[in-house]
Amino acid sequence: MTQWLIPPPETPSLPIVGSDHRYAVRRILCVGQNYADHAREMGADPDRPAPFFFSKPAMALVTDGRDPAYPSMTGNLHHEVELVLALGEGAAIIGMAVGCDLTRRDLQAEAKARGRPWDAAKGFDQSAPCGALTPGSGPEASAGIRLSVNGEGRQSARLSDMIWASHEIVEQAARLWNLGPGDLIFTGTPAGVGPVRTGDRVEAVVEGLAPLSFTMGPPWT
Ligand code: MN
Repeated sequence: MTQWLIPPPETPSLPIVGSDHRYAVRRILCVGQNYADHAREMGADPDRPAPFFFSKPAMALVTDGRDPAYPSMTGNLHHEVELVLALGEGAAIIGMAVGCDLTRRDLQAEAKARGRPWDAAKGFDQSAPCGALTPGSGPEASAGIRLSVNGEGRQSARLSDMIWASHEIVEQAARLWNLGPGDLIFTGTPAGVGPVRTGDRVEAVVEGLAPLSFTMGPPWT
């Protein structure tokens, strides 16, 4: 029996709609710029051939209706509503959820300008609020994806607006990683990203999935 120097950390996980079981998460892959209008607002060409990926640690998840803390070292925290895929054996999509890819936009802009990695901009603690996992193959392509802040609509699109559809994203990611149970994929965000401040109420929806809502907490202490 393994003797741990320090007790192992808790396994990050998502609740599942209609079940007492939980989905254990081992990593989070994220797609950059998967909606043409958001790619344009970020100054990129949306017609480029392949999606690109970055990642967040599994421990970045914020689940079960908890509120994320406002991260340190940023004055421009942004929301990005995203469809989240949960994978099972053989990289099959076994369920979907609504996620928010919280981003230190100022640090991301600096990283882009200097050709540096995005970890501090994207992979910080509590950077991945995520709703409950809805089992199944997900909503229709015509389903709406929306995010509001304090009741004001910020992002609104349809899943059919994604440049790369869910199964195509999994195919592309499977060329780069040995995908399997515990892998979440955030599939990119539509246009309308913008700032979130302490006290803001964020409500994110993908029609057909359990919604995600949180109030942005006070700064880290
Ligand atoms: Mn994103």
